[in-house]
Amino acid sequence: MYGRGLLKGLAITIRHFFGRAITEQYPEQRPVLAPRFRGLLSLAADKCTACGTCASSCPNRAIRIHTRRDEKKRRLTGYEVNLLYCLFCGLCVEACPEGALSFSPDFELATYHRGGAIYALYALSGEAANDFDLAGREKFEGRRAAGGEE
Ligand code: SF4
Ligand code: SF4
Repeated sequence: MYGRGLLKGLAITIRHFFGRAITEQYPEQRPVLAPRFRGLLSLAADKCTACGTCASSCPNRAIRIHTRRDEKKRRLTGYEVNLLYCLFCGLCVEACPEGALSFSPDFELATYHRGGAIYALYALSGEAANDFDLAGREKFEGRRAAGGEE
């Protein structure tokens, strides 16, 4: 009884040993991603009208938009996505009326600290850049934790 099980196990081992490798030598060997793979969000800032629909459709409030209103209209000055909260659900991409949001194939998103998971997909130089410092992020996190508004 034991001998039969042992032979079966050996047969499986030998089959895998000489068969096609199913693991990849990452990172030397890059994975082939599915066409609809959902990596880091990507923003086409030239299409974005700063309407805020994506942020309000996000179930986890992972998107933060910075805007500035001039005499004509509201303009985008910064766009942040917090991957600590993002579910990669795609609701923001579906909700965008301008088709400005999409998923990129960027999957290497590991960081050593929480702040590194907040991605500025767009930041206008000048005053908006100040909004993306760590202190600003911590304030944002604190308000989230307290259930307050951005
Ligand atoms: S993919 Fe989902 S969770 Fe992530 S930012 Fe968009 S709506 Fe929010
Ligand atoms: S929904 Fe689209 S156009 Fe509106 S703020 Fe978001 S990315 Fe920009």
